Amino acid sequence: MTHATRELDLLIIGAGPAGIATAVEARQAGIQEILLLEKGPTHSFSIEKLYTPGKRVDKVYLGQEIECEGSVCIVDGNRESVLQAMDDFVNQFALPISFETEVTSIDRQDDGFFLVEDNKGLRYRSRTVVIAIGVYGRPNKPDYPIPSSLKGHTHFDLTQDIPAGESILVVGGGNTALEYVAFLYADHPVTLAYRGSHFTKANDVNRSILQKLQNQGDAKVWTQTDIGSLRDASESPRVEASFKDGRTVRFDHVIFALGGATPHGFLQQAGVELAGKSPQVDHRFHTNVPGLFLAGDLVAAGKGSIVKAFNTGHKVVWDGLCADHLECRIPGSKGS
Ligand SMILES: Cc1cc2nc3c(=O)[nH]c(=O)nc-3n(C[C@H](O)[C@H](O)[C@H](O)COP(=O)(O)OP(=O)(O)OC[C@H]3O[C@@H](n4cnc5c(N)ncnc54)[C@H](O)[C@@H]3O)c2cc1C
Repeated sequence: MTHATRELDLLIIGAGPAGIATAVEARQAGIQEILLLEKGPTHSFSIEKLYTPGKRVDKVYLGQEIECEGSVCIVDGNRESVLQAMDDFVNQFALPISFETEVTSIDRQDDGFFLVEDNKGLRYRSRTVVIAIGVYGRPNKPDYPIPSSLKGHTHFDLTQDIPAGESILVVGGGNTALEYVAFLYADHPVTLAYRGSHFTKANDVNRSILQKLQNQGDAKVWTQTDIGSLRDASESPRVEASFKDGRTVRFDHVIFALGGATPHGFLQQAGVELAGKSPQVDHRFHTNVPGLFLAGDLVAAGKGSIVKAFNTGHKVVWDGLCADHLECRIPGSKGS
């Protein structure tokens, strides 16, 4: 275990839209010692991992017409243009990010400082901490067991390349599931299985793309279809899905797009109180632990977006950190 040497003013956990916006606002506010810790090999790792290449990115997402309140914003574009914009913020504001650094514990000491530890046993000492780890780190799993021998044939994102021509069952009914189908159909026979009867969780554009693919015979869509169990057929195609309506069908791969869960354990370990599934925060996203804030999807009540994540970072810094915890320069004042 390595002991912390440098004292930070602000440690930000997670370098996605919320973490990056928090860091940019902190720079604007003149907060001195800042560090971001990111578990992935790049910033914006959820976007990198979960958005399909070329995916359209809407500024108004899930019908939420929200304007950017702070120094960072995006326009409508695609996965690549948004990643480029995030890259530009990181470079323009010279944000210090430590990659492949997954935070494992956060502990507020008696002297008011936080002691944060990562997966490599490194420790960081900071006056304040913002947790911006999103909700996608732990994808929801189905309630039936997945045989371990099917590793490489069952997936929770698109990070693993699936050889062209191999058949895929996509499970889910939200935007992610529909976008997976729209991305995969060109190179694979794709079937979408959803237990609901209508795709009410998906947006109009994704719904109409799916309808078109279905009409053209490019994708099979099975609604009101629930998997009961999965079995390793031990020969190609390997994954045997038994549906609750009695059908048994085999696929080369299954991709689950069942959403993500708030990382309760992580928050509880840090001492954050939860009300049911939601972390308890005030209007500035300050938790019950003095100096510990949350940002982004963690405080979006299940309806996160990039702009919303940016705005939480702005509020945390100006209404939270600068109001009660750290010395900031006031916008418009001499020297700002
Ligand atoms: C398929 C899909 C399509 C979407 N399309 C849109 C769209 O068109 N428009 C839009 O506005 N929104 C869209 N969203 C939502 C948007 O991506 C999220 O609201 C946004 O990314 C939330 O930002 P965040 O910073 O809170 O979390 P995230 O983007 O999830 O970032 C969290 C970061 O923290 C890191 N991390 C996690 N755990 C740790 C740890 N323990 N230690 C260190 N680092 C950690 C992760 O690797 C990640 O980089 C979409 C989401 C999905 C899944």
